[in-house]
Amino acid sequence: MSLQLQQITVLGATGSIGVSTLDVVARHPDRYKVFALTADRRWQLLATQCLQHQPRYAVLNDAKAAANLTAELQRQGCETEVLQGASALEAVAAHEQVDTVMAAIVGGAGLLPTLAAVNAGKKVLLANKEALVMAGGLFTQAVQKSGAVLLPIDSEHNAIFQCLPNHRSDYLARGLMSSGVRKILLTASGGPFRNTPSCDLAKVTPEQACAHPNWSMGQKISVDSATMMNKGLELIEACWLFNARPHQIQVVIHPQSVIHSMVEYIDGSVLAQLGNPDMRTPIAHALAWPERMESGVASLDIIATARLDFSEPDLLRFPCLRLAQNAADVSGTTPALLNAANEVAVAAFLSRQIRFDQIAQLNEEVLSRLVAVEPTSLEEVQSADTEARAMASQLINSW
Ligand code: NAD
Ligand code: MG
Repeated sequence: MSLQLQQITVLGATGSIGVSTLDVVARHPDRYKVFALTADRRWQLLATQCLQHQPRYAVLNDAKAAANLTAELQRQGCETEVLQGASALEAVAAHEQVDTVMAAIVGGAGLLPTLAAVNAGKKVLLANKEALVMAGGLFTQAVQKSGAVLLPIDSEHNAIFQCLPNHRSDYLARGLMSSGVRKILLTASGGPFRNTPSCDLAKVTPEQACAHPNWSMGQKISVDSATMMNKGLELIEACWLFNARPHQIQVVIHPQSVIHSMVEYIDGSVLAQLGNPDMRTPIAHALAWPERMESGVASLDIIATARLDFSEPDLLRFPCLRLAQNAADVSGTTPALLNAANEVAVAAFLSRQIRFDQIAQLNEEVLSRLVAVEPTSLEEVQSADTEARAMASQLINSW
């Protein structure tokens, strides 16, 4: 089979997902050429990545970091052109020479560049779940309008995608039941505090929260996993990706993180996708889809795995999951408000301004004080986001 070289932009190249993506891409120089790499401010790592992958463009959000990168690449004789700022992120995501965009910026900062890739009709590999949580309705409409191909990178959603029927357009148009799907079982490791009593959660440190038992990830998603907000965001993400209603998705604690999620059909069949907890598997799956290719991930040792455990999540110890379940039910701008409050709360926890248990308190307080609407434009989503961030910061200062 002859393969066409795919040009790829990696948004968030210096992050955990970005680095794993470049690891997979480097294994297949016959399939992929890196077109652009982007980062917030870590210019040294971006320089190393540019020297290895020789992209046409490198984009940094931060102006000083961009100046440093320019000087370093010149010194090394690298021809990559350095751009800076939010509009450059959108430009390299939507560039006509780009086929595939890995959307791996963390948080709401990823929304506009990811949407730019969608609007340009790219193959979009979505790791940036916050973008879909914030603007799911407008985002999925944009996908339909442009004909972009949206593929999930989140391991659970990639697993669900693999277990769902191949005819995606059927369930996207008519709902999961029409494809014989009874429910989705969204698995969760339970995070580092799965067995920690409530009374001890107030004392946990950022270092403890970021020490995930099974996955190595960026700080924000690590804290979200510890509060289980990550599972809540994933529930909302799954509703949009698979045209599911919240009641069709059951969250299941599965501490081994070997099953990445399951789909139950009306005949009683339950399909699961298993694998080692290594993001290179979903990344390689989505990059090569509908084909398959090597990812560098070791074979799953099912004998060593030995047992798979399952239990119900504890909504009392993990109120963030409850808040997200409610947000999924009411939808509108509620998920955007929750996401924004949570980003501020996680940053405040990481900088030791608030306690771990105050993350959920802050999220709940912000939601109770602000009024959600049914957004008809991106501006409405963005103003909900701004409003919730301001309210969250104000509350933190008053505590
Ligand atoms: P990370 O913190 O390791 O990396 C984030 C990347 O985004 C970095 O390259 C950073 O430079 C860039 N970035 C941050 N702020 C930016 C801004 N304002 N403008 C431009 N770029 C900015 O995060 P990660 O763990 O790689 O996660 C990335 C996304 O993927 C998140 O949405 C996360 O929820 C999702 N995800 C991650 C994993 C994982 O295993 N890490 C798994 C599933 C989903
Ligand atoms: Mg996940």
